[in-house]
Amino acid sequence: MTKLTYLNDTYLFESNATFIETRETEKWKAVILDETIFYPQWWWQPSDKWEIISDNAKFVVTDVRLDEEWVVWHFWKFDTWEFKKWDKVQLKIDSEIRITNSKLHSAWHLIDCAVTKMWIDNIEPTKWYHFSNWPYIEYKWELENPSEIIPELEKTVNELIQDNLWVEVKSLSVEEAKEEWVYAPAWKGARVVNFSWFKKYWCGWTHINNTQEIWKINILKIKSKSWIIRVSYSVE
Ligand SMILES: [Zn+2]
Repeated sequence: MTKLTYLNDTYLFESNATFIETRETEKWKAVILDETIFYPQWWWQPSDKWEIISDNAKFVVTDVRLDEEWVVWHFWKFDTWEFKKWDKVQLKIDSEIRITNSKLHSAWHLIDCAVTKMWIDNIEPTKWYHFSNWPYIEYKWELENPSEIIPELEKTVNELIQDNLWVEVKSLSVEEAKEEWVYAPAWKGARVVNFSWFKKYWCGWTHINNTQEIWKINILKIKSKSWIIRVSYSVE
């Protein structure tokens, strides 16, 4: 099990870790560490990228994944020599990618808060996609003229940005999670995220600290078909 340091601080772009071993798949090599600041691609949010370096070796990271044993695999290749077991290594992630991904993901929460505020409380998101090419959020719901609500949704979500909401992240024990009606695996507990007074989300992704770190959210398109509403957006 790799310690997931990125859960504690979105803005930690450099850190240290201990090299455990190299693993191989058919295509790529993977480096396994005791802890990591690299966010592994999880559902529809892309992973962090850049490099892991020791005194005499360097590993370039282009993809990161989490396996069923909660071990993080840092994928790609050694640029020079390989690491030796228990080497102390330095981790560096691309800060631009991290910030973009955290803003796109946090914007998703904010749009959901705005949707909840405008429509009815029990409308729940069913799918989310945070790659920067065309991010969107989907709901199981139906609307007659979906485009008509774009101006109101955009206004509501941008008011939330201006409200200067703090993003609170809390780790819950299994007992605490039970009290708050949040799902928690027995061996792990849970992590909940909320934007000030808005509803709590069970969430293991990376977030901004304050809504004003986003300048503006644009609602680009709302499509309604066969009880699926897709809200596409961009972040400035
Ligand atoms: Zn989240």
